[in-house]
Amino acid sequence: MHVLICGGGVIGASIAYFLSCRGLKATVIESTGLACAASGKSGGFLARDWCDGTPLAPLARRSFALHGELNEKLAGNWGYRRLDTYGGFAGFPARRGAYRLAWLSSKVKVGQALGYRDSTAQVHPGQFTAAMMRAAAAQGAELLLGRVTAIAQHHGRATGVVVAGEIIEADAVVVAMGPWSILAALSVPLPAIFGLKGHSLVFDTGDTVPGEALFVEYREPSGTVLSPEVFPRTDGTTYVCAISSEAPLPIDPAQVAPDPGAIGRLEAMCASLSPALSSAKILARQACYRPITGDGLPLIGRVPGVAGAYAATGHSVWGILNAPATGEAIAELIVDGSAHTVDLRPFDPGRLPPVEPDIQG
Ligand SMILES: Cc1cc2nc3c(=O)[nH]c(=O)nc-3n(C[C@H](O)[C@H](O)[C@H](O)COP(=O)(O)OP(=O)(O)OC[C@H]3O[C@@H](n4cnc5c(N)ncnc54)[C@H](O)[C@@H]3O)c2cc1C
Repeated sequence: MHVLICGGGVIGASIAYFLSCRGLKATVIESTGLACAASGKSGGFLARDWCDGTPLAPLARRSFALHGELNEKLAGNWGYRRLDTYGGFAGFPARRGAYRLAWLSSKVKVGQALGYRDSTAQVHPGQFTAAMMRAAAAQGAELLLGRVTAIAQHHGRATGVVVAGEIIEADAVVVAMGPWSILAALSVPLPAIFGLKGHSLVFDTGDTVPGEALFVEYREPSGTVLSPEVFPRTDGTTYVCAISSEAPLPIDPAQVAPDPGAIGRLEAMCASLSPALSSAKILARQACYRPITGDGLPLIGRVPGVAGAYAATGHSVWGILNAPATGEAIAELIVDGSAHTVDLRPFDPGRLPPVEPDIQG
């Protein structure tokens, strides 16, 4: 059985890995470059129980465990580590801090520990995606560069995908193009997937920032409150993201660029958060889109009415965390006919109305 996976982000690579573990031939078709979008430009923060109390909890808990197992099992280093996580404020004069993190400026008051090494961790998301694809390739999977323009169908069954006007045939097709999965809704009945833009910087901080993650409520001099996330990584870099925007998603992933002014605001914020950031070289100034659905839950399961077509997208802020359990569950669904490690019913793509055909053209 041959499965085509549209999209070479963390979700597509994870599906390829788990399909290859089950002995299936998987081909990832990626238009631009492996992990070129959010899967290479996001935080890579992982939390075991921050989704508790929501339908995501079993997926997140299974995935958190799988991240640890994959780190033990697979070759390579993608910066996985357990770490402590703190929450703080900056720019709110009345707040007091319970913790003193020496690398932060005195303006940042750290009020609480949000997680400890047993429950929070991190990866370098692009390196993790690449490691999953490498492990999949070692078991026979392939990565193909090409832009998917449609899902080919015959008598209500997916028969492959269209790339450069030609049909690449397969027994099953998985849509995993992040926010670009909306393009697949032009040929199969999928609900809308939106892209919400976020901006980030990567600093070369060497050993000046210890391995502890930080979530901050930061008030700019203008009074606007931002919610930066700061993740020092094992490779001596520190990743900081903040500033969401509803700028439209370009059809071509290579065209994603920061909004005017967003990077300047982010740099000013970082300089005020920590002297270690203000003096560090900036290695990347970037933006990416997280994929979100109408009800905030991912789409993981069969595309209604099209046999052999599956969707795995819409993971919003937890796509890096939830990629392994998504890949495992999609592999079970395709190979065994149903997923048994995680109950996929809350994520059924059929729960939301499909995109109206009149968006076509
Ligand atoms: C600023 C920010 C910070 C984040 N931080 C975290 C975090 O700390 N922890 C966490 O768990 N999650 C985080 N996320 C969320 C996470 O990054 C995403 O949920 C995840 O990367 C989505 O992965 P994906 O594979 O679904 O999509 P993407 O990474 O968007 O991959 C989709 C792929 O499809 C390709 N593609 C597009 N069109 C086509 C086409 N026509 N044909 C073929 N291929 C195509 C694209 O080039 C792209 O490579 C963050 C997101 C943002 C924006």
